[in-house]
Formats: sequence, structure tokens, C-alpha cells
Amino acid sequence: MGPLEIVNTEPIGKNQVPGLIIVPRGRQAEASHAAAVTPKLISLLEDYYGTPYPYQKLDQVVVPLTTSWGAMENAGLIAYGDFLLAPREEDTALRQRRRAGIMLHEMSHQWFGDLVTTAWWDDIWLNEAFASWLSLKLLNEAHPDWKLRPEEVSNTGTMRTDSLASARKIRQPIEAPGDIANAFDGITYDKGSQVIGMFENYVNPEVFQHAIRLYLSRHAWGNATAADLLAALDTVAGPGAGAAFTTFLNQGGFPLLRVKLNCDTTPPALEVSQERFLPLGSAAKVGPLWQVPICVEWADASGGHSQCAMQSKAHDTIPLHASGGCPAWVFANQNAAGYYAVAYDPRLFESLISQGIDKLTLAERVSILRDMQLTFSSGRSDTRTAFAGAREFSRDSDRIVVGQTEALVSSVNELVPPELRLNYAHFVETLYGARARELGWRPKAGESEDTRQLRLELVGFVAVSGQDRPLQEDAAKLAHTWLQDRHSLDPDMVEPVLEVAAYNGDRPWFDALVASAKGTKVKRERDWIIGALGSFRDPAIERSALELLWNGDIDARELIPVLFSPWKETRDIVWDFVRENFDRLNSKLPGARGIPFGSRLPLTAARYCDESHRQQVASFFQSRIASLSGGKRNLDNVLERISLCSVRADVVRPGLVAFLAEQ
Ligand SMILES: [Zn+2]
Repeated sequence: MGPLEIVNTEPIGKNQVPGLIIVPRGRQAEASHAAAVTPKLISLLEDYYGTPYPYQKLDQVVVPLTTSWGAMENAGLIAYGDFLLAPREEDTALRQRRRAGIMLHEMSHQWFGDLVTTAWWDDIWLNEAFASWLSLKLLNEAHPDWKLRPEEVSNTGTMRTDSLASARKIRQPIEAPGDIANAFDGITYDKGSQVIGMFENYVNPEVFQHAIRLYLSRHAWGNATAADLLAALDTVAGPGAGAAFTTFLNQGGFPLLRVKLNCDTTPPALEVSQERFLPLGSAAKVGPLWQVPICVEWADASGGHSQCAMQSKAHDTIPLHASGGCPAWVFANQNAAGYYAVAYDPRLFESLISQGIDKLTLAERVSILRDMQLTFSSGRSDTRTAFAGAREFSRDSDRIVVGQTEALVSSVNELVPPELRLNYAHFVETLYGARARELGWRPKAGESEDTRQLRLELVGFVAVSGQDRPLQEDAAKLAHTWLQDRHSLDPDMVEPVLEVAAYNGDRPWFDALVASAKGTKVKRERDWIIGALGSFRDPAIERSALELLWNGDIDARELIPVLFSPWKETRDIVWDFVRENFDRLNSKLPGARGIPFGSRLPLTAARYCDESHRQQVASFFQSRIASLSGGKRNLDNVLERISLCSVRADVVRPGLVAFLAEQ
């Protein structure tokens, strides 16, 4: 790792302990942002926890090349990958935001993870979910303009994984070494974080904070379990919340709440029924009911109201206590804090959209679109309904809302038949083309951070899915210039520009990128170039990119992304390569946390969407996966994804074809 140099931070926390940032020689100036924010982040945590930073010093060390980990919260000595550093002129707001988020996550572990340590691996979720939740909460409160909460709500990835039969539970028993490695996944970090947020909202944030402080004081300098945290919660909030929390810990999946308004009773009531959210064709078992802390907002003649209840029966009635008669609208996920999806009765949905939508926060509006996305991507709603929603919201002024409509539209990408590609591109152009071309690839002076983010979200998508020639040609020109002059592009835009340039890229362009990757000493630039090497649509070039794994000019560990090509056109090339070279890949590339690299290889086939490939993947890995610790869960997960995708394709395709034929 050496030689190293040291940067001092200002004294840290209430006890004013010394802080160092330890960096590779010659890169001290690149640590200025990390050094400046360290004392501020620790102060945020001291205020929340109510106790000073527990150690006598805080060192933070930069590890130049990490594989399969980004940061590690050793007590008083946090290790980070290269992202902790950046030259000031390249350090965009987005990168600073992401860096602060990871730093705060690791720092929150100094109390929650280090000062109090989980007794065993089955509660590792408690460390990770808590650190993820608290760092996001505190940054969101300190910088509401960053929109971190709405962004979290907009992301359907975790809920989609959680809807699979093969999904882990948050608190999964640890039965083999591979289970430990598998425990560091989106269910642990993100589902765990969202479930904590749901209960914080339900018992109220001050009460929840008291429970956390009680838990820390009871167990400081010792071990604890999830049961200890829930006991502290019950002590502070009264009995009930802990037991309800457990229903989310010990089973996979999440609830779908169907809600309907009944104004024939006094007071009016919300009828709520609960079922597990399952994609079409799912073979998942339906487990016990959840105890769902549901918080509702509504408006009637007497004004706006909100109320929470514990929904624990298959069919429940929640009386809406207010004096204003029948509500004009009802929204069933206050603060978008609930880890559940809502399906409104059609009349209730209509009144929510026509009368309530303006009263909702951004995160709340985003949750409505998220539920729409979940329903469509799991084959539970038709193209026309989903695309009408996408069209309606595609011109929204908020970048996150626009991004969600894009996710709806791009979710059919794999299903579009070749003869309707142009119709699909035309639909994409109609919705987003003008806006994307106006944004262009380059930032303009004085524009807002939101506009910069929207550019990142939209322009690459329109260039490829909208087959936008002017944007594609611009990207190629900008990419060629960037290869000669690394300051010629906005650092946030290098990745999408290089990816689009590779999409239509030819052999000389590939060779130029390879030569450049070999000669580039800056890690993040090498990462961008390697990302581009795996993004050529030409199958022969994709094959050459894969062969780079063997020739030793570029560190094979850095080339792992080329195994995960973004295009449908090249997925067969990757799959053939994996089958031909399985043993070699497994022995050459590094595993993580004790599981071999081969256990990740089923994921290279995850984007197939037909039964015959499902069988091919199953039979190829059948004899190989048993000996690969942690691999069986990945394989089960991929097989289930392919199988559900093929069921969805059969249902969605006729409607999609009819819709696209009209475009
Ligand atoms: Zn962590």
C-alpha cells in the first residue's frame, strides 16, 4: 500500500480527539473534502447518539485497490477505497455527496457495531441496516436539497429482489460460511434500513432515538442482539412495536396493502387487506401475516389529518377519526416510510391523483410511482396503463419523478421485438428527446444541481434507447477528445459518454481504449475506461474485451465489470465465455469474504428471459455450484428471475406489441 503520507483533520468531537487521513504519497491535496467534513459528520452522530465519539483517535486510511469491499469500520481506523480522494477540480457535488454518505455510514458503526458489537453473524443486519438508515436520515435532514430520501423511495431494486421466493430474510440463520458472505446484500442494508425507518415513523422519531440511546447505554463495550434492541424499543415505546418488527425480520417478502374507503360508517373507515406482494408466476410460499405499522394521511371538510395503526389481520378496518365527514382523498403511506406497496381501489386512486397529489411531499409522490413500477415489472399491470402513467409524469419538473418514468419505459427493453425497435425508439424520443437534446452532454454555466443530475439520468438513455443520432455522434466526439484531454468533460458525464461511444464503437476505438487503460495511473479513470471496454455492442469486440482477462496487461481484478455487459446483443458472448472458462475464471479471480469468485458467475446470465436459457443455466451450474460456498443462493435467484421474466414476457408482450405498433 505504501509509501504513505498523512493529512491532519481538525480535532474531532466533544473530546477533541486527533484525526488523521492516511493517503498514498503525493495525494494529500486530494483529501481536502474528506478532512473538512470529518469533524462535522462526527458531530452529527454525537448529537444523535447523545454520547461522545468513543475512541481516543480517528484515523482514516485510503487503500488504493480494494476488491469486493468499499470501506471497513475498524474501531478508530476506518479503511476506504480510492473514492475518498479526488483532485478539487474534479470533485463534483455528486461525488462529495456519495463520499459523505459512506463516511457517515462507517462513522456511525463506531458506536453501532464497534462500541456495541453484534453477538453473532445472524444479526449483522443490525449493524448494516442501522448504519445505512442513520447515515441517510442525518444527511437528508442536514441537506434536504440532496433529496436522498426521495431517491431511496424511488429505487425498486430491493423490493423486486425481496419479492422473489429465493430472497433472504433480513435475519437469516447462519448455517454455513457462505451464508455470512451472502448476508452483506441489499436485503440486509436496504430492506433493513427501510424497515427501521418504518418503525421510527410509527413510534415517532424522538421516541425511537430514546430507544437507541437506551440500547447503547445498556450494552456499551459489549455484545448485543436484535432482541436487545427490540427490548429497548418496547421499554421506551410501550409493548407491541418490538413484536411487530420481528414479523419483518424473520420472513422474506413484503406486504401489498389493498385499501378502500368506506364512508357509510361513522366515522368513515379505511378497509385494508394484506397479502404478500408476488410477481406473476411466483412459486413463493405465503408465510404468516405481517404486523404492518400503517400511517395514513387524508383531507376532509375540517382540514388535513394523519393517523397510524397496526394492521395485523388479513382484512382490517381503520376508523378515520376526524370531524369533517367523508375524506376527499386518502394516502396510505405517510412520509413514504412504509416498507409496503399500496393498491388503491380505483375510485380512491382517482381522487388521490386529482385532489391529493399536490398536498403530498416529493417522497410520497415518488412512492406512488414506485408502486406502479413494482406492479408493472412483476407482470401485474398492462403496458397501456403503465405507459399512460409514464407519459403523464414524464414532463414533471422533478428529476426523480422523470427518472421513475424512464425506469417504467426501460423495463420493457428486453421484450421489444426487433421489428418494433424503431417504434420503441420513437416512443422514447416523443417522451424525452427534446429535453435530452436541450440538456446535451455538457453542463451549462449556472444551472442547478438537479439539472446536472437529470442530464446524468436522461441523456445516455435517450441516446441509446431513443436511437438519437445527434446525441450518439456528440458522445463519440467528446469521448475521443476526453481520451486525449482528461479535463475536457464534466467528471460526472465521463461514464455515460464513454458507454454511448462504445455502443457504436469500432475496433480502432477499442484498441485506443485498451492502450489508454494500460497507461492510466489514475484508478477512477481506469474504472471508467474499463466500463467502456465492456460496453461495446459488436460481439467480436466484446469477445476481445473478455480475452483481456487472460493477457495480464490490465489487472484482472479490475476487469470484472466486462463480465456484466449492459446490452442484450452481447449477452450470448458473455455466457459462452463463462461456460468455456468457468474453472479458469473461478481460480484466477478473487472471491470475497471467503466465498470463491465462481459463486458469482450465475449472475452473468441473469438477464435471460426464456425457458430454454433457464434450463441451460440450471444444467451448467448444477454440478459446479455445490462446491462453491454461497453460490447456490445466487443460482436460485438467477433461475427464478429468468423464469419470472419469461412468464411476464408472455403476458406483457401482446399488449406491448399492440402499443408499439401505434407509435
Ligand atoms: Zn457497514
